[in-house]
Amino acid sequence: MRKTKIICTIGPGTASFDMLKMLVENGMNVARLNMSHGAREWHQGVIRSIKRINKKCGTSTAILLDTKGPEVRTGDVSRDMVLKKGAPLTLTVRRQAELEPYCVEVSYDGFVKEVEFGDIVLIDGGMISLLVKEVTEKDVRCICLDNGVLTSRRHINIRGKSADLPSITDKDWQDINFGIDNHVDFIALSFVRQASAIAELQSYLQEKKAPIDILAKIESAEAIPHLDEIIAVADGIMIARGDLGAELPYEEVPLLQDEIVRKCRIAGKPVVVATHMLESMIVNPTPTRAEVTDISYAVLQGTDAIMLSGETATGKHPFKALETMDAVARRIEKQMGLETSVRVKVTNKPKEEIARSAAILNNNLQAVGTLVITRRGLMAVLLSKCRPVAPIFAFTNTTHVRRRLGIYWGVHAFRIKFSNDPEVSIQRSIEQLQRQNLVKTGDRIIVLSDILAGGKFVETVQVRTI
Ligand code: ATP
Ligand code: MG
Ligand code: MG
Repeated sequence: MRKTKIICTIGPGTASFDMLKMLVENGMNVARLNMSHGAREWHQGVIRSIKRINKKCGTSTAILLDTKGPEVRTGDVSRDMVLKKGAPLTLTVRRQAELEPYCVEVSYDGFVKEVEFGDIVLIDGGMISLLVKEVTEKDVRCICLDNGVLTSRRHINIRGKSADLPSITDKDWQDINFGIDNHVDFIALSFVRQASAIAELQSYLQEKKAPIDILAKIESAEAIPHLDEIIAVADGIMIARGDLGAELPYEEVPLLQDEIVRKCRIAGKPVVVATHMLESMIVNPTPTRAEVTDISYAVLQGTDAIMLSGETATGKHPFKALETMDAVARRIEKQMGLETSVRVKVTNKPKEEIARSAAILNNNLQAVGTLVITRRGLMAVLLSKCRPVAPIFAFTNTTHVRRRLGIYWGVHAFRIKFSNDPEVSIQRSIEQLQRQNLVKTGDRIIVLSDILAGGKFVETVQVRTI
């Protein structure tokens, strides 16, 4: 069983029921919907299909809604615009159906106020770089610094500046409400700069009684000095390397990835490594060896989840990309063994220490796995933090907790009906594992569960033989 989880971005290439079903069957743990693209009705169609698939196939694919955030993008182009080094390109805030050639709309009217003569404007994470030559009331006239191809809705950065937009825009609030109404499991908050935006969304979700976890996307330079507070407040982190490497020199990105993964692992918050993981497979049927190494590195770091973006949204080979990610993760995990296991600090917190004990027992006794009975998922999360060698079989009684656990390293979640007698729940769980051929008679398994002792529920770790 693969421990590193896989998130796939759903786009026109993978939105049909059959394609989604194939992604689920081939190992997608979380489906990501990017609200920077596609209408809400389109996204709703995908959400409905995933829910139907989960029902029909007994799976628990989680849904992650990724907000657009305070970003600036180019508008739609009717066909790819080929740009030559030294040639002019105008960015405009005019809202006109027909624009002159080599002119493209910008989604944010304030853009003309923020950009100045001599600024460098990066489009699509630096795939296109422009030098600003003139700013008029509605137009920014630029020169292309390189050859490039401009497609629809590309992200724009002004080097060294950030757009004066609120952290959560009006569109984001509408999309968040859409996510609440459609019971998504995660909201990824884009371009987080400070922990306060996460706290604001958290209280809103609480008010709405929406059990949705917030992933803070680290993609803006401004977030870096606030990493610790952001990790402390968020339910998880996504390292969005594309924009991060445009806002900061890209050679900073690997070091930041290292720091963020390490800090998240200490905090026990799930961490996602995202962007460009198999970029060449958008076009090619096989990965570059450098991409394989990048995935391996993320797996070796012990990241909870790795993500596919354009590879599954619009790429030519979505299933090959998923298959590649799956194969690389499995191979590297097989090699990892004890190396990344149980490297958590002593906490003096009973629940954390019980989970650590279970992980140590699991490793030292070479058990086939750890079975954990968990209502809200907490004990499974604490176990995952210890990265035990064998799988974590988490049994919970709600579909939402089951789906949410899908993003955590090593956790395979199931839903059962809980009994008032913990032993009955344990037996039901073992039977389910046997039915699915995940354990067999004679196997040693670690059990982490409440038991009834003297009329009270007491958390215990047990070594059992099935
Ligand atoms: P972000 O910076 O938020 O990741 P992105 O533009 O890089 O934004 P991705 O989600 O990484 O977007 O997806 C890669 C590409 O796939 C997009 O740039 C877009 O062209 C396409 N895409 C993604 N989702 C959709 C969608 N729902 N509808 C149409 N195209 C999509
Ligand atoms: Mg985004
Ligand atoms: Mg992207």
